[in-house]
Amino acid sequence: MSECALCSDATPLQAVQIAPLGEIAVCATCGAGLAGQIAPDPHWACLETAIWSEDPVVQVAAYRLVHAMRIEAWASDLLDTVWMDPDLLEHAQAHPIAVAGASGHRDSNGQPLAQGDTVVLVKDLTVKGANFTAKRGTAVRGISLVQDNPEHIEGRVNDQRIVILTRFVKKS
Ligand SMILES: [Zn+2]
Repeated sequence: MSECALCSDATPLQAVQIAPLGEIAVCATCGAGLAGQIAPDPHWACLETAIWSEDPVVQVAAYRLVHAMRIEAWASDLLDTVWMDPDLLEHAQAHPIAVAGASGHRDSNGQPLAQGDTVVLVKDLTVKGANFTAKRGTAVRGISLVQDNPEHIEGRVNDQRIVILTRFVKKS
């Protein structure tokens, strides 16, 4: 009755929002994957079936997961062969999964950082040009990863968007 929409595991399920299409109920592994916590695992063989689902929400969720693993041969092959309604494909590609750790951004403890994470400053930072000090312990919500520099993230402190060095933050 209650099975994961992606892998059919009959384990406790969680509802995950697949923007902008709706919600699916998935197992803990698939749910973590959709949240960007993806490790190579035989579990993901389930996607070879799920990506052909007639349920558009399931198909889009599966596509995003496969796309997040596209450096693996099976995943890139699958992306090459899958057929999707062009509108669905657009939805699937519009919100890629931000894979934790893939960008190489890590906090002061070596924990992978992902787009949208909340971090806490681990020291007082003088913000050059903005004339204030961001205090140790300040939470910075919804960080952005600076694409070509794994030591830099961006976030809002005191209503100003600033660049912060990853070694001065801790994931909360
Ligand atoms: Zn699952």
